Amino acid sequence: MSARRGLVRCAALALIWGTSGGSLAARPTQPTAPASRWVERVRGLMGTRFAIRARIERAEQAEALDRALERVDALERLWSPWIEGSDLHRINAAGGKPVVVEPATLALLERSLALCKASAGAFDPTFFALHGLWDFRAQPFVPPTDAAIAARLPAVGCAGIRLDAAARTVQLLRPGARLHLGANAKGTALDAAARVLHDAGLRDFAVDGGGDLVLSGQGPKGPWRVGVQDPGTARGRDIGRLALGAGAVATSGDYERSVVHQGRRYHHILDPRTGRPAMATRQVTVLVPAGPHAGERADALATALFVMGPERGRRWLAEQERGMRPAERTRVFWIAADGRRHASGVLPWVDGKG
Ligand code: ADP
Ligand code: MG
Repeated sequence: MSARRGLVRCAALALIWGTSGGSLAARPTQPTAPASRWVERVRGLMGTRFAIRARIERAEQAEALDRALERVDALERLWSPWIEGSDLHRINAAGGKPVVVEPATLALLERSLALCKASAGAFDPTFFALHGLWDFRAQPFVPPTDAAIAARLPAVGCAGIRLDAAARTVQLLRPGARLHLGANAKGTALDAAARVLHDAGLRDFAVDGGGDLVLSGQGPKGPWRVGVQDPGTARGRDIGRLALGAGAVATSGDYERSVVHQGRRYHHILDPRTGRPAMATRQVTVLVPAGPHAGERADALATALFVMGPERGRRWLAEQERGMRPAERTRVFWIAADGRRHASGVLPWVDGKG
């Protein structure tokens, strides 16, 4: 296929951009808005590549794309556990004392705790107490012993996080506890970037964070097209393409950071209850309708539903979204460990079939 792909395939989704090459700025303008043109900005952020494509009507609107990426940069400095002075770094280094954080951090942690509880710990930012046990880059890779995992597990669990909204503090109650928002902060950053663009008056745009997307309006040729990668052909073929309007889409796969050791694949999505890589799923794609936290929710749910696997995940989601109208519901596509495909809701495939 000669389609110009999304710039990144860090995850298993790719924004498909038109059907011929050429620079984005040179794309034909929309017949309905003759003065408009598409612009693009790309930057390495949050350990991946962020790309924004947007239709602008006035040259100065292009600055909104830079501001949106600045916002992502600011959130990375707030939430990266690796950056000294970040809210997460300070929480993890506080030795169990309460730490005053930014309102945005408190709000994100409140939503994270709510999902942790609702998912019975399938999504759990305290998984990071296991940090260092699973080193997929080590040569040779050595899985941790049962005893090593058992020694860390008491520090895992969101009941060990105390949030005080009035004092704006976060406190880790369990010795050895640490937080990491790797499963949802990227989605929060996509939402924040989308808000900057929206506030600048932009309506047709895609914000892409390593393949997870927040979409608004339409693409240059109508509904946005997003390719879902076939996990069997890592970085190769797509299973099919989705036609999407406004909303968020995120994928989690078992091959992004992984290693095969003695015939078993070990990877970076852990089941916090066992302290081991979750084994029920190869890949999951989550579609969330447009909303202020759609990107965050898609990102977080991709991880939670990966851990749960299709059978439990479908039941859980139906329970969570009981009484919602179909248009408000989350749609999910899993490829299970045995290669079988499962869906919750009807996915808008344009070709290929999930
Ligand atoms: P990415 O898009 O970075 O490939 P995901 O959105 O699937 O990844 O999130 C995986 C990341 O989330 C891991 O690298 C780790 O930081 C974190 N994580 C892993 N397992 C869990 C879990 N069960 N709950 C919350 N966070 C997790
Ligand atoms: Mg995620």
